[in-house]
Amino acid sequence: MSIVYIVSAPSGSGKSTLVNELFRVVRHLDFSISYTTRQPRGSEQNGKEYFFVTKDQFEAMIASGEFLEYASVHGNYYGTARRFLKQAETSGNDLLLDIDVQGAAQVKQKIPESVSIFILPPGRHQLEWRLRNRGEDSEEVIRRRMDTARREIENYSKYDYILVNDRLEQATDELKAIVLAERIERSGKQPSGDEAKRFATARECRLDRAQKRVQPILDSFKQGE
Ligand code: ADP
Ligand code: 5GP
Repeated sequence: MSIVYIVSAPSGSGKSTLVNELFRVVRHLDFSISYTTRQPRGSEQNGKEYFFVTKDQFEAMIASGEFLEYASVHGNYYGTARRFLKQAETSGNDLLLDIDVQGAAQVKQKIPESVSIFILPPGRHQLEWRLRNRGEDSEEVIRRRMDTARREIENYSKYDYILVNDRLEQATDELKAIVLAERIERSGKQPSGDEAKRFATARECRLDRAQKRVQPILDSFKQGE
């Protein structure tokens, strides 16, 4: 059985950066390329970051039951095609879904053994700065993303793991530790020396341990209301 990893984060937290780093170092992991009705940004290519489709095409896919989950995010449809899970299972790989909080809730309900990870920015100001610095969104879009972020962050406690993307290198190590620790745990094998270290790193990111680190971040978003 493939392990399904769900990664969610407010836009601009650094999720794509972290996920790209993860794919550089972890093998036997497939990325589920979502379908979306939004326009491509910057250098995005059809079939790489997303499959870009029209609203009519998306709705036809909904009608024929092709989605494991789908949701409306920032005014556009986004969805995960079921076939990615089948493909991963056939090739013996695990699957990573980069989806929003609504999609994560749907997948967790359908696949309770999936592993959900919520990535947080270090605070409100840093998130705003990263969105501006990325230089891909207009001022209006940035404002909308900051508003959505505040709402999304309230859902953090529905996730298995919480990752704070402050120092990139540390956050990358933590994400890798979570993925590998879950694999070892499910294999039923005794962890070796290095693996035991990863277990400890992953454990620190579990929801029940992360609360203290998360509270100041939540507070920074409340102050921005
Ligand atoms: P997301 O996929 O969550 O929308 P990105 O990966 O595009 O976010 O990152 C948003 C911006 O923040 C990018 O310009 C990226 O280079 C930068 N960034 C990512 N992680 C960090 C970090 N740990 N520290 C500083 N900047 C970061
Ligand atoms: P962006 O437009 O910035 O690429 O993505 C916006 C949001 O949509 C992100 O939170 C991203 O995780 C989410 N998203 C991307 N693909 C899917 C998907 O297939 N399903 C759902 N529910 N959300 C998605």
